[in-house]
Amino acid sequence: MVTAIGMVREQLTDRPLLVCDVDEVVLEFLGPFRRFLAANGLKLLPRSFRLHGNIVAIDTGTPIADEAVHPLIEMFFAEQCDWQTPACDVATTLAMLSEKADVVFLTAMPPRHHDLRRTLLNGLDLTFPMIATEEPKGPVVADLHRGRDLPLAFIDDIARNLASVGESVPQCLLVHLMADREFRALMPVPDAPVICADDWAGAHRLVSKHFWAGEPA
Ligand SMILES: [Mg+2]
Repeated sequence: MVTAIGMVREQLTDRPLLVCDVDEVVLEFLGPFRRFLAANGLKLLPRSFRLHGNIVAIDTGTPIADEAVHPLIEMFFAEQCDWQTPACDVATTLAMLSEKADVVFLTAMPPRHHDLRRTLLNGLDLTFPMIATEEPKGPVVADLHRGRDLPLAFIDDIARNLASVGESVPQCLLVHLMADREFRALMPVPDAPVICADDWAGAHRLVSKHFWAGEPA
C-alpha cells in the first residue's frame, strides 16, 4: 500500500528539501481563531502559551471547560476556509525557494481535514505537496527524506515538533517561526540547535544559507 508519505516522496527531486508546518507557519492560526471565538461569544486571553484555561466567555470571563477546547478546534478546522489567512510573505518566499528546492507541507491535523486544507492552500497559490498526520513529525520527516545526501530544513512553531525532527534527523536545519507575535512573546525560547526566525524573510535567509551557503534563492 502506498502511504501518504510515500505518495509525497515520489514527487521529490534531487534538490534540497524544505518541510514546513502549516498552522502559525504557512497559515495564520491564532489571529483567525480569535475571530472565530469572538463570533461564538468567546475570547482567548494571552496569559500563557496554551489554549486550555485561556479561552473565556466574553460576557462573564469564565474559562470554558478543558474538554470543550478540542471540539472548538475541530469546529474551527471544519470552517477553516472561512477564517484562515496566509502568513505574511509566505507565498512569495516559498515561490522563490521552490525554484531551487522541494517544498512539502507537514500539518499536524487529522487526515479527515486533508481535503479542506488542500482546497484552502490551493486557493492561496500554495500548491506544494502536503501530509496531514497526527503522528510525531520526526519519524515522518525521516521517512520522507530517507537519508538522502541532500540538505534538509524544517520550520515549525511548536518546540515539541522541532525536537522530534532534530532527534530523528540530526542533520536537519531546525527553524522556529510563529506568525502570532502576542503568543510568541509568551513562548519559552526553543533550545539549540533550533534557530528562531522573526518572519518569512528571516526564515528565507536561514534556509538559503543552509541549502546554498548564503547564495540567495
Ligand atoms: Mg503549527
